[in-house]
Parts: sequence; C-alpha cells; structure tokens
Amino acid sequence: MKKNLLNELKNECLGCKKCPLGETRINIVFSDGNPETAKAILIGEAPGENEDKTGTPFVGRAGKLLNEFLEKAGISRAQDLYIINTVKCRPPKNRVPTDEEKTACEDYLLKQIEIISPKVLIFCGATALKSFYDKKIQISKIRGEILELEIGGEKRKCIPIFHPSYLLRYHSLDEGSPRDLMLKDLKKIKKLMDA
Ligand code: SF4
Repeated sequence: MKKNLLNELKNECLGCKKCPLGETRINIVFSDGNPETAKAILIGEAPGENEDKTGTPFVGRAGKLLNEFLEKAGISRAQDLYIINTVKCRPPKNRVPTDEEKTACEDYLLKQIEIISPKVLIFCGATALKSFYDKKIQISKIRGEILELEIGGEKRKCIPIFHPSYLLRYHSLDEGSPRDLMLKDLKKIKKLMDA
C-alpha cells in the first residue's frame, strides 16, 4: 500500500523541473530502504556525485560510514529505515541546497513523511535540522535531543544527529568525540524505534 503511493509520488517526481537542480541532475534520488517496515525516516542534506549517478542516497564514503554506524547500533538500513534528502536532485559541486530549492522540493518530502508516518524522524546533519527547526541552532548544541515537532499534520519525535560526512574528519572513538556521540545517538534512536 505504502509502496504504491510512493511509486505514484516518485513518478511525479521523475520529470520534475520545479527548481534549477532539475536541469543539471543525472538522476532523481528519491529514497532507499523498505517503506513497509521502516520505523524511522532518516533525512540527509542532498545527493552527492555518487548518489546522482546511482539514484540512491548515501552510497558514497559518507554513506559507507553511516552503514558502519547503523550496524554497530543494531539498526538495519534495509528494514528499519527509509532514507531521503531535503532535495531530490544534486546541487552542482555538492553545495548546500538553497532555501528556494528546498521549498520547491518540500512537497515531495512532506508527502513521503505522511505516507510512511514513522515513529521517529532523524535529521541527519545541519541542513535537515534547519529545514524543520530554528535556522540559527548549531547541530552540535542539539544533537541527540528528542524534539517533538508538528510535521505533516502530526506531532512527531525528531532527533538531530551528525551527518556522516562530518565524521569523516574525526577518527577518534574517545568518550565525547563526534564518532562516540554519533553511536550513542543511534543507540538512543534504536531504543525509540523498538519502544
Ligand atoms: S530538487 Fe526537487 S523540486 Fe528541484 S527539480 Fe529536483 S525534484 Fe524538482
């Protein structure tokens, strides 16, 4: 049922030229994961080069690192998550999507959230967080907190986490390091998903 609704939405999206990113993309990067079993939606920033080539989110170096962390936290990428981005098309040179581009793409994002209606929304990185929350807040100040936000007509539990591309710069697993905090946040999310 969810799959059918999402397929209809994807078909709408495939020819989309609502913003300038539609002129330069190779592929629409619509989603990954299992919509029927997903307990959480993970929202990233935007497709990068590898994502644009393959049409799948989080498949480059950052995606591989995300997979490692998910595995350590006991979260199945294939079954527990539905993965999307704030925009469906790659911004040139991997720049951050503009507010206008995010607004143009917002309908697809909100409809995906409404259809899946997950227990938890994960804001993966500052761009996703700022799409739904205070634009001035720093992700390092709020990551790991459970926020209750009205999104798509319902109050939903939302948790900001670091983006894995940020973690590529830090290798330490010491207490309080970015990688340590990421693992703790994902374990907290796992508990929420299983509650
Ligand atoms: S980013 Fe979104 S709104 Fe812009 S062209 Fe792609 S699908 Fe359409």
